[in-house]
Amino acid sequence: MCRSFFYERMKLENLVKLLIREEILMTPIFKCLICRKDIERSKKTFWKKKGHLLCSTCLDNIEKNKIENVFL
Ligand SMILES: [Zn+2]
Repeated sequence: MCRSFFYERMKLENLVKLLIREEILMTPIFKCLICRKDIERSKKTFWKKKGHLLCSTCLDNIEKNKIENVFL
């Protein structure tokens, strides 16, 4: 029983280590969906936007288009 507890602990520790490693490897750099430019964003923003990330230039263009569409 003591031994199985030890193994469970080992498993948990390995999982935590794996998650930490992934966190380090997954640098918060994403590519813009339109122009493929690298954009640095926090992961929080990434998940908030469900992975749909655009650089500020493309976002500006979309905003401009939206405004133009409203007026047309
Ligand atoms: Zn872009």
